[in-house]
Amino acid sequence: MSQAKLLLITPPFTQLNTPYPATTYIKGYLNTLGIPSFQADLGIEVILHLFSKEGLKQIFAQAKKQRNLSNNALRIIILEHSYVQIIEEVITFLQHKNPTLAFTICERSFLPEASRFEQIDDLEWSFGTIGVQDKAKYLATLYLEDLGDLISEAVDPYFGFSRYAERLGMSASSYDTLHSKLQEPVTLIDTITLELLDVLIQKEGPTLICFSIPFPGNLYSALRCGQFVKRNYPKIKIAMGGGYPNTELRSLSDPRVFEVLDFISLDDGERPLRNIIEHLAGKKSIEQLKRTFCLVNQKVQYVNGSTDVDISFHKTGTPDYSDLLLNDYLSVIEVTNSMHRLWSDGRWNKLTMAHGCYWKKCSFCDISLDYIKNYEPISATILCDRMETLINQTGVSGFHFVDEAAPPSIMKELALELIKRKDECDLVDQYSV
Ligand code: SF4
Repeated sequence: MSQAKLLLITPPFTQLNTPYPATTYIKGYLNTLGIPSFQADLGIEVILHLFSKEGLKQIFAQAKKQRNLSNNALRIIILEHSYVQIIEEVITFLQHKNPTLAFTICERSFLPEASRFEQIDDLEWSFGTIGVQDKAKYLATLYLEDLGDLISEAVDPYFGFSRYAERLGMSASSYDTLHSKLQEPVTLIDTITLELLDVLIQKEGPTLICFSIPFPGNLYSALRCGQFVKRNYPKIKIAMGGGYPNTELRSLSDPRVFEVLDFISLDDGERPLRNIIEHLAGKKSIEQLKRTFCLVNQKVQYVNGSTDVDISFHKTGTPDYSDLLLNDYLSVIEVTNSMHRLWSDGRWNKLTMAHGCYWKKCSFCDISLDYIKNYEPISATILCDRMETLINQTGVSGFHFVDEAAPPSIMKELALELIKRKDECDLVDQYSV
């Protein structure tokens, strides 16, 4: 097993402000086994390339070739120089690296403005007279959104800041559309993604690349990456898992999917991934995989012959945020309603208090799914230990608990444990109900 080297990838796009935590969990578990891995959020890396001087020049060059553009797109193109000139300053401001730029932004003569700025209501009401940082963040977000509008109108209709080609992922009941799209030439976003992936592969030399697919807006990019790896690095194996396969790919039957990857695992990833690694090391037969789709004799098979039990939640290790570009995420304010800020503003350490849901009674919920029905809390002591490790690793003391339904009894125990340890953490609870 020691020869395996894993590359864990979140493909474009999820959130701008913070990494999606799935690969941090898997990396934390691999640490407990002593298996080396490297993780990357290609989403933020592609965004930073796209919204750089060089990236914008490529966007404008493509946009200018289009005909029949809207007045809004034409306005942005006319203002090209203004957009390109300040892009890197705006990005560093949104990364909290140049806070004094806020005063200049708020003067309203620094950022070029197109249609997104028409939605501005009463800035005074939203930000008061001293909320300069937030007001500037909001204005800078509108500036990026104007550029996003240009990209989706004139360069790539599948672009979105937190999703890519989501429509293709949502229609995955048939693989036909995705398959046809994969036969088309690569897009600008594909090109950037694949160049970044290539650098990672050459630097890290992985034997197995794992794609985490939380949402339909991550699927197409993962498949495009898989296609690239199969063509250029045929010895590397490719696996996929995450929330999207867990809910949408349970009846997978199209063998063409396995032209671009080798394994798709369902539900908790730790044990299936361990069995895949052992299988690739020749220590397990293909029949001993766990909850994994793969191709056997050119037919899609769901293999679940392993008798190994799943890894208990308290043995999965502490999520590991190393390798990620933690200081480069962007804090944006898309709407002035402060309730939305948790999803777009600031970087949070994400944790869960329990595996599964303690409640399991909502009539609209599919409680047969593993990640809901198998409830397993961990003790407040382990939770606090994990929080301390994460604070030390990331320098961030804000925690966002992303449980299906955070159990009140654990919340109380955790609060008491925190008081006992005299920790200073900003706790935010998030319920999915
Ligand atoms: S609380 Fe959430 S996870 Fe639990 S049963 Fe209700 S909807 Fe499902």
